[in-house]
Amino acid sequence: MKIQFYNTLTRKKETFIPITDGKVSMYTCGPTVYNRAHIGNFRTFMFEDILKRFLMLVGYEVKHVMNITDVDDKTIKKANNENISLKDLTNKYTRIFMEDLETLKILPAEIFPIATEHIDNMVDMTNSLIEKGHAYVTDDGSVYFSIKTYKEYGQLANLDFDNQIQTERVATDEYTKENPKDFVLWKSWKEEDGKIAWDSPWGKGRPGWHIECSAMSTRYLGDHFDIHCGGVDNIFPHHENENAQSRCSSGTPFVNVWMHCEHLNLEDEKMSKTLGNVFSVPSLIEKGYTPESIRFALISSHYRTKIAFSEKKLTESKKAVHRINEMYNRLKTLKRSGTSLPNEYDDFIAALGNDLNTPKALGILFSYIKAINKKMDICSISENETAESIHFIENADKIFSLLNGSERIPEKISVMILKREEARKNKDWQLSDQIREEIKKEGWVVEDASDGPKCYKV
Ligand code: AMP
Ligand code: ZN
Repeated sequence: MKIQFYNTLTRKKETFIPITDGKVSMYTCGPTVYNRAHIGNFRTFMFEDILKRFLMLVGYEVKHVMNITDVDDKTIKKANNENISLKDLTNKYTRIFMEDLETLKILPAEIFPIATEHIDNMVDMTNSLIEKGHAYVTDDGSVYFSIKTYKEYGQLANLDFDNQIQTERVATDEYTKENPKDFVLWKSWKEEDGKIAWDSPWGKGRPGWHIECSAMSTRYLGDHFDIHCGGVDNIFPHHENENAQSRCSSGTPFVNVWMHCEHLNLEDEKMSKTLGNVFSVPSLIEKGYTPESIRFALISSHYRTKIAFSEKKLTESKKAVHRINEMYNRLKTLKRSGTSLPNEYDDFIAALGNDLNTPKALGILFSYIKAINKKMDICSISENETAESIHFIENADKIFSLLNGSERIPEKISVMILKREEARKNKDWQLSDQIREEIKKEGWVVEDASDGPKCYKV
C-alpha cells in the first residue's frame, strides 16, 4: 500500500519507502526528566504511538528508540535547587514518565537509552567532528560546532540567513531561530554544575543537549535511519543541530523523514513547564477522565494542527469513546461468522496512510458505527456483517486503543451470551436462566431487549 508522510525537511508529503524492506527504524526525542511530563508532551508521544502502531498494523517491524534526557541545563539546575543528586532527581521522573506512558496505553519503545549512560558515544562523535574540521575547542575546554562548515545548515528549520545577524556562539541548550549560532557540543565544567562532570580529552565537562540525541540514535539505529519525530519546538535548534552533527560526523544521509507534531495549547498558549499552565495525566484521571478519553482528545485532531485543550474536549471525547465501546459490546452479544473486513476498513487505512489523517480515519469509523447501530436496532445485521464489524473495531483499536478494558465484554462472556441466545431460541428456559446466573457470577448482567440482549458489567 502507498503511505505518504509530510517531511519537515522537504516541506512536502512524500511516499514512504523504508531503507530496509519490511522494517522501520524510528527515533523519537524523549522527555527531559526534571519534572513530570504534561499532557502537551503526551500529545507528541501519543502521535508517535499512533504512527508506530499504524506502521505495525500494516505489517512493518518497527524498531523504536526513545531517549531519556537526564543531563542538560534544566535537570542540573533543578537538582542543584532541590539539593539532591542528579541521579535521584532523574530516576524519580523517569519512573513517573514510564507510569504515565502505561496509563495512557502508549506502547513502550524497544530501547529507552539514558543520556548519562552514553557519554562515551557523545565524546567519540565530538572528537570525530573536531577531526573533520566541523568543531573547535575554546580556551575554557568547551567544544563548539561551527555552523559555517555545513553548507546545508538551516535547511530543516528553513532559516532565512539573509535577514539574520549571525553573532557569537551559544552555550545554552535552547535559543531562538532568529539568531543561529555556533552551538555547544561539550561544555566545560562551571561552578554551577557542582559534582556533575565527566572526563573528556578537553577536560572535565558535560555534553550539550543536541549531541546526546545524535550519539544515541546512531548507536542504536546506525548512521542512517527512516523516521525522526518530535514536537515542532524541537525543529530549532535541537533537530537542526542534530542533523548537522550527525551528517557531518558520518558523511552519510542521517534521517529520511522528519515528522513533527504541533502543539497542544491551553487558552491560546503552548502548554509548557516553563509557563506553568500544565495538566498532568494523574490530575486528569483524578477528575474522572479515562485514559481512553484522554487518548481520543489527543488523536482526534490531525498531528500537524494545534489542539486547543479543554475539559469540554475531554467530556466530548468521553462520549465518543463510550459509543465505540457500546457498539463493540453490542456486537459481541450477536452470532457471527467469517474473517473478512468491510470495505470501509480500506478507506480507514488509506486515511491513515495519507500523512496519518486520524480525524478522517475516526470519521470513517464513526459513520460505520452509526450505520451498523441502525442495523442492530432493527435486528437486520447478518452474521457476516457482525463478524466484519468486530474485526474492523478490533483492528482500529490496535492503533487507537479506545476499547476500555473494564467495560469491554470478554470473549468468555460473549460465548456464554451466544449459548444463552441459542437456549432461548430452543425455548430451553431452564438452561437460559442457568447461563444468566453463570454470567452474573462472572460479574456481568444480561438483559433481554427487543433488539437483542444487552450486557453490562455489574
Ligand atoms: P521536553 O521534555 O520538554 O523535551 O519535551 C518532550 C516532547 O514534548 C518534545 O518532543 C516536545 O517537542 C514536546 N512538547 C513540549 N510541549 C508540547 C506541547 N505543548 N504540545 C505538544 N508537544 C509538546
Ligand atoms: Zn532529541
